[in-house]
Amino acid sequence: AGLGVSGVSAARALARRGARVTVVDGGDGPDRRERARRLEQDVALELGEERVGVRLGDGATLPEGTGLVVTSPGWKPGSPLFEAAAAAGVEVVGDVEIAWRLRGPGAPPWLAVTGTNGKTTTVRMLASILRAAGLRTEAVGNIGTPIIDVVEAGEQRPHDVLAVELSSYQLHWAPSVRPHSAAVLNLAPDHLDWHGSMAGYAADKGRIYTGNRVACVYNSADPPTEELVRRADVEEGCRAVGFTLGAPGPSELGVVDGLLVDRAFVPDRRHRAQELAEVSDVRPPAPHNIANALAAAALARAYGVPATAVRDGLRAFRPDAHRIAHVADVAGVAWIDDSKATNTHAAQASLTACSSVVWIAGGLAKGARFDDLVAASAGRLRGAVLIGADRALIAEALARHAPDVPVVNLDRTDTGAMTAAVRAAASLAGPGDTVLLAPACASMDMFTDYTARGEAFAAAVRALAAGQDHDE
Ligand code: ADP
Repeated sequence: AGLGVSGVSAARALARRGARVTVVDGGDGPDRRERARRLEQDVALELGEERVGVRLGDGATLPEGTGLVVTSPGWKPGSPLFEAAAAAGVEVVGDVEIAWRLRGPGAPPWLAVTGTNGKTTTVRMLASILRAAGLRTEAVGNIGTPIIDVVEAGEQRPHDVLAVELSSYQLHWAPSVRPHSAAVLNLAPDHLDWHGSMAGYAADKGRIYTGNRVACVYNSADPPTEELVRRADVEEGCRAVGFTLGAPGPSELGVVDGLLVDRAFVPDRRHRAQELAEVSDVRPPAPHNIANALAAAALARAYGVPATAVRDGLRAFRPDAHRIAHVADVAGVAWIDDSKATNTHAAQASLTACSSVVWIAGGLAKGARFDDLVAASAGRLRGAVLIGADRALIAEALARHAPDVPVVNLDRTDTGAMTAAVRAAASLAGPGDTVLLAPACASMDMFTDYTARGEAFAAAVRALAAGQDHDE
């Protein structure tokens, strides 16, 4: 179900193993058609609703003889096709489950990461640390090459261990995955339309701990993550390990005098803590990112990686684009692109890292409320520039909780809107301020994705820096 990148990868892998594959996809459009065309060249498949007689909407039916349904993230659990599968006693799984089942003997263990925010950053940090320890690894899962392809390629180019990012959707459909160790970074409301409720979302995230052998890593500042560990069904001897931005307790990693330290995996009990790295080795050294580094370090340490590799791996790590990326300093103002802050929890993390900020926000709210975010950040706001479809929701929250903050409400969604937003922000900011694009919203009302949004911002800032921005 679903002809996206992961769907194509699953279809190919199953067809190669002799399965008869029927791909159904309710969508259309050039990308889909091109993917279907290429897929049909390599594998025997039956495609599309009419040709195979599969109905997707109400009263959905499965093709005759279906033994397994493989789904993609976009399909909600209550979709009629899955109800038809349940009624017929047919199992529904996702691509991560297929990848897990296709692992051969001696396959590398998984160190897994989930959370509302910080997953990609953390698995990339983890992969960098594992590499610094001389291990053959890759960051996979919800990022980069589809996980099935990586597992299959491992037959030729073996890995020692994989750093696996798992979204709540993927966990929902991956019942038999058993990571070596796993981390839940944080839990804040997101994607509730898909999971049905916060409890459902948390339960799906919590599945990442199932069957862990060495360590379940949780965020000591986010008690619901610890609660998930308490409820988890783990192997005997598996430990709960916390991470904190303060001084660590006996089973935690934390921060002491500007150093990341580990008290959980100290080989010699005479030493109270093992120094891992300096806080300044973490880029960018924003509090939430130090938390990500600690979570990555905890998983690496659970796998037996030495302290020096944690330091070397963090130093070698380069953050992905559009995640608190410094674009330019112009007239004493720092311009930061955090276009990837697509929900309020992420935006709050980056706002918290600034002391005096002009905030560019807005887009598609996905049902979010902005009161808590604005109330928590009001003291640091020098101004706000609002863009996008749901900007009124943020404007209302600002009026309620930060009535003195000047707000520019940009009533336009055309391609030049970001240039106008950057100019408006420049007029609100003074030396020592930061202008932060942290939209707290999805981008698809104005841009193809968060990357395009971040690039539009960076281009407008660079034009401003060069004194070249002209009227649109
Ligand atoms: P994900 O893969 O979970 O979407 P990313 O690493 O891509 O996470 O970061 C997404 C956004 O969340 C970025 O805007 C980043 O600034 C913010 N972020 C990263 N780590 C955290 C964290 N630990 N807590 C809150 N926000 C975070």
